[in-house]
Amino acid sequence: MKIGSENNLKIEQIPCLDDNYGYVVHDPETGATASIDTPEVAPINAVLAERGWTLTHILNTHHHFDHAGGNEALKAQWQCRIIGAANDAARIPGIDMRVSDGETFDFGSRSVRVLEVPGHTSGHIAFYFCEEGAVFVGDTLFALGCGRLFEGTPEQMWGSLSKLMALPDETVVYCAHEYTQANAAFALSVEPQNKALQARAKEIDRLRASGLPTVPTSIGRERETNPFVRVHSAHLQETLELSGGDPVAVFAETRRRKDHF
Ligand SMILES: [Zn+2]
Repeated sequence: MKIGSENNLKIEQIPCLDDNYGYVVHDPETGATASIDTPEVAPINAVLAERGWTLTHILNTHHHFDHAGGNEALKAQWQCRIIGAANDAARIPGIDMRVSDGETFDFGSRSVRVLEVPGHTSGHIAFYFCEEGAVFVGDTLFALGCGRLFEGTPEQMWGSLSKLMALPDETVVYCAHEYTQANAAFALSVEPQNKALQARAKEIDRLRASGLPTVPTSIGRERETNPFVRVHSAHLQETLELSGGDPVAVFAETRRRKDHF
């Protein structure tokens, strides 16, 4: 942990497109500056200009257009280094550095650990800033939700969510979409007895009514309220008519119901 707030990692959350969040992360000690995904070029450039930062890196969570669509334009402009999944390199435009599960790389004076989290796409990765306790999860985990299974099995996605849930409770989770209010309605439909969820849903309504973001979240808060990681909840299992069911089956049924909610 760095001493003194002036040395703390700076994280800018940037609304992009309809409901995406981009993030620009800046290390004041070295000037290293990364865009976590590139949903939209203009708002990312606006933050860089406002702060006077030079983009040195792009860290891609996965290949979808609303995550990697700005790679080539930003690389042409800034000559930044693009880091993405080794096992999905063919789909990451402009990739320079290929990374795999468990690998740690330097970003300025910080270290970043790569977590492979397949399910939404086969090559999805998350970036864990170890010293800061911050994780950028793309479309794998959302506040009160998780990504759709476009390219993976429930078993894979459950493994990926479990990997994220193994991080400390206080870890700050930066998700890539503002889907929380709709997710809350679904969560309440499958676990209406959950008091922490009831309170959180009210807080989310209040934030959204004021036009405020509900992201980031934290691992601990998701553990208490997100049905997709609460497969052991007796109430959730009861709603799904899967009491005593195995985690993957409960997760799969939760995901299936959300797809039709
Ligand atoms: Zn996606």
